[in-house]
Amino acid sequence: MTDQLNEFTNENGCPKCGNMLTSVIKYTWWGGFIGPKLFHHTKCNTCKFTFNSKSRRSNTSGIIIYSILLIVVAFAMVFFINKK
Ligand SMILES: [Zn+2]
Repeated sequence: MTDQLNEFTNENGCPKCGNMLTSVIKYTWWGGFIGPKLFHHTKCNTCKFTFNSKSRRSNTSGIIIYSILLIVVAFAMVFFINKK
């Protein structure tokens, strides 16, 4: 799975500057270990642009949706705990 992702990333390079040197991000402040895996989060080694290696697009909107979902889930959990 990881090898396949690396192969795909190296083949296409950075969508912004075309650089072939990209690295798969395994951990981020917004998504922990699950978020970057979900979005195939990849960073260009040259211009530091982060993108989805599968969709070839920036992950910004995905990150926002993911963050909102996490907040909603957290609030829902607090709500249900307080209910009891
Ligand atoms: Zn780049």
